[in-house]
Amino acid sequence: MIRRLPALLFARLAALIAAASLCIQPAAAQSVLRDAETEALFRDASAPIFAAAGFNPKAIDLVLLNDGSINAFVAGGQAIYIHSGLIGAADSVNELQGVIAHELGHITGGHVVRFSEGMKPATGITVLSLLLGGLAAAAGSPDAALGVFMAGQQAALGKFLSFSRTQESSADAASVQFLTKAGISGRGSVEFFKKLQNLEFRYGYSSRGNPDAEFYSTHPMTADRLTTLQDAFEKDPAWNTPPPAELQARFLRVKAKLYGYLAEPQDTLRAYPEYLTDVPARYARAYAFHKEAFVDKALDETKALIASDPKNPYFKELEGQILLESGRPQEALEPLREATALTGNEPLIATTFGHALIATEDKANFAEAEKVLRTSVARDKENPFTWYQLGVIYEAKGDIPRARLASAEQQLMNMQLGEAVRSAEAAEAALPKGTPDWLRAQDIAMSARATMERQKKSR
Ligand SMILES: [Zn+2]
Repeated sequence: MIRRLPALLFARLAALIAAASLCIQPAAAQSVLRDAETEALFRDASAPIFAAAGFNPKAIDLVLLNDGSINAFVAGGQAIYIHSGLIGAADSVNELQGVIAHELGHITGGHVVRFSEGMKPATGITVLSLLLGGLAAAAGSPDAALGVFMAGQQAALGKFLSFSRTQESSADAASVQFLTKAGISGRGSVEFFKKLQNLEFRYGYSSRGNPDAEFYSTHPMTADRLTTLQDAFEKDPAWNTPPPAELQARFLRVKAKLYGYLAEPQDTLRAYPEYLTDVPARYARAYAFHKEAFVDKALDETKALIASDPKNPYFKELEGQILLESGRPQEALEPLREATALTGNEPLIATTFGHALIATEDKANFAEAEKVLRTSVARDKENPFTWYQLGVIYEAKGDIPRARLASAEQQLMNMQLGEAVRSAEAAEAALPKGTPDWLRAQDIAMSARATMERQKKSR
């Protein structure tokens, strides 16, 4: 894809990549993947489990990490981290639910994680958009794109965490309680752990350093753990209940999509060869072709997907994304507008739509872009790329105070604290006193300064 970019953009992108590699430790790099469809699946698959545990489903974040090893973990706080490799290893949504229920057991048990060997922070956040960095660079500021990569610093590397065996048994017992109460079969949970056990056998119990069985180094397994778990689940009336067909179909789509997005295109084409015409196969191949810059083939697969399910917003999102990232923003507008409407303004999709509107470089589209992006930040304030684009719009309108305010939001999120203070103060000085924006500028400056103070003290 890079070779399709104009020369100037290529130079900016190269500078961006060089700068990024200075900030990110490549070996430890573990980025957060954001994707509207995956996040919706996570929410719907986990909501009954969270409710059974007495949680407001919105109180716990499920975070997808770009890591091919099979693992899931909690690292303090109300978040469950799931490796992309775990999705790849699971065959049903019920297996994913089993893992979520187990991790939730660690949260409700208040289990304190042990940091085994030199914990490093995870770095980076990637939206499932192949050229996000390049696009931000195209929009004028490599720094903004860098910010996008740096936003996931709070996540911890799962492989450095571990629980005690007592904590494992207690999380297992809790998972039985939650799934039973939610009327969800524990069969997936048992099957998933059995699968991991087989990997463990194959590799001769050397789970350390064996990426396939990483789950066992964070969650130690004892011989009787599986038996206890299976005995408990088999008694449950839901044992033989399969997951809802619709949820399972969504799981298989997400699994194929992540595979297509993350794997080498030739691997995707091997796993999902062209004679397969089912939805997951086409979905995975659409990403593989897009990554290879075979735009027509990627669009053909996407059009077949849309024909099979014309109201699927994520297929439309993909069509728009392929067009946008192939330098055809004008054509991307219609599918992205539809995807945004079909999902009731899902913030990640709305941001891509806003970006396509800006990328047309047609000022007539900027008012709609502003509206869409503002709706997006109202629901998801934590996407620095959205703030960055709002800044572009304000700047284009000559609304410099609000452009500074948007920069301040983005910089605060990226922990560029000094810059955040400067942008916020510039905004505050120029905005009408007492307005919500003026107050927000004050808040940002204050919060950035307080964080800097804390950092100074901890040094
Ligand atoms: Zn565990």
